[in-house]
Amino acid sequence: MPEPLAPPVPVLFPPYHTPEREAIQAEARRFAMEEALPLANELDPQKAEIPRWFLERMGKQGYFGIQIPKEFGGLGLGVFEYCMISEELARAWMSVASIIARAQGGGTQHATGDRRRQLLELSARGEWIGAAGLSEPTAGSDLANVQTRAVLDGDEWVITGQKRWTGNAKAADWMSLLVRTSDPQPGQSRSAGLSTVIVEKERDAFPPGVTAVMIDKIGYHGFLTWNLTFDGMRVPADAMVGWAAKQGRGGKPEERSAFAGVEAGLNIARVHTASRAVGLARAAVEDCITYTQERVQFQHPIADFQAIRFKIAEMAARVEQARSFYRQVATLIDLGYPCEKEAAMVKLMATEMAVEVTGDGIQLHGGNGYTTERQVERHWRDARLTTIFEGTSQIQQRIISDRLLPRSPLQ
Ligand SMILES: Cc1cc2nc3c(=O)[nH]c(=O)nc-3n(C[C@H](O)[C@H](O)[C@H](O)COP(=O)(O)OP(=O)(O)OC[C@H]3O[C@@H](n4cnc5c(N)ncnc54)[C@H](O)[C@@H]3O)c2cc1C
Repeated sequence: MPEPLAPPVPVLFPPYHTPEREAIQAEARRFAMEEALPLANELDPQKAEIPRWFLERMGKQGYFGIQIPKEFGGLGLGVFEYCMISEELARAWMSVASIIARAQGGGTQHATGDRRRQLLELSARGEWIGAAGLSEPTAGSDLANVQTRAVLDGDEWVITGQKRWTGNAKAADWMSLLVRTSDPQPGQSRSAGLSTVIVEKERDAFPPGVTAVMIDKIGYHGFLTWNLTFDGMRVPADAMVGWAAKQGRGGKPEERSAFAGVEAGLNIARVHTASRAVGLARAAVEDCITYTQERVQFQHPIADFQAIRFKIAEMAARVEQARSFYRQVATLIDLGYPCEKEAAMVKLMATEMAVEVTGDGIQLHGGNGYTTERQVERHWRDARLTTIFEGTSQIQQRIISDRLLPRSPLQ
């Protein structure tokens, strides 16, 4: 059934503004501008990683545990605050706003009891930061085509295959891998037989059985991004998410697909990406407001020219529009509404907006915009990625249109 265009309006839509949120935003803004921005200006041109001492600083700010309950040492906040803080961090350096997504309780799903509590506490402090290995050379937009195999051998899984684009893999404390334990049977969905394995690993090293080759990117520095080849890497059987529960019930190794869990996580990832895109576009607007008042041509600051003024007005309005949209979707997620279509919409609109607004930012800087002397080129390079990762714009269009238009039996 096609979905209605307008989502139900929640009866009790909470106010966006609270004194607590205002304080959280002010502190995130201070941290971003005073601490993250100088680091980005220094390290991005070197294609260097975010240093450990800075991750520790972020840990003290609580940014790795925004969504982790307070009882485990987290801030106990929602997707709204997660995105609001991410916008501030991305305004300085997108990589800093991105690395927090590799904590927030991730990499704890396989653990139980005291071990789970311990990992959640480490995650909240930024001492359990991970890497996500979903994509493969032949599985990008089409994740159901994952080929990496996990075969049970006694009480271990033996993993063979390749992952592409695994960001932060070397520096990580754990890797989450989407693997195949069986092939779909006739009549089953193509994603049947997919599971998630959490690989606990030594920081700044790769486990035995893994060969890694770094990918040279044009932006999104701060992270190193890797091609990984698994040649019989061994992990304990209970590294598979859901394994302990199955064992308790006497179940078989893996009978249900991990795909549903991956897709649910992607909803939050998409609104998080939208907030990062807003931060990058805002950075371009703020840089242009400064630059166009400094730069004099025809005996005027170029900010006097109506063409420039109107362009900045339009850029700022588009940023504001995208911010309102991500705040709405984040609120809906926090209220428990299923938001797959809306998460896809905000990811699509905010990231395409960021590419255009940061590109306009380069134009308003003239030749200086096309140099590495100004920050606007970093905002553009990072924004350019946001329409590609976490599902391309075309995949968002596909998700949205599939919920609005039934497919004919001919397809
Ligand atoms: C810098 C960077 C970091 C990344 N980090 C990670 C990471 O940490 N972990 C991870 O698992 N992955 C990561 N990725 C992978 C990322 O999620 C994929 O690149 C993305 O999903 C697109 O897959 P692809 O590159 O294989 O493109 P493809 O799927 O090959 O797409 C190529 C083009 O075809 C279009 N297309 C494909 N299918 C359709 C369709 N059905 N209809 C219309 N158009 C279509 C796409 O939109 C795109 O324009 C990263 C990627 C980059 C570039």
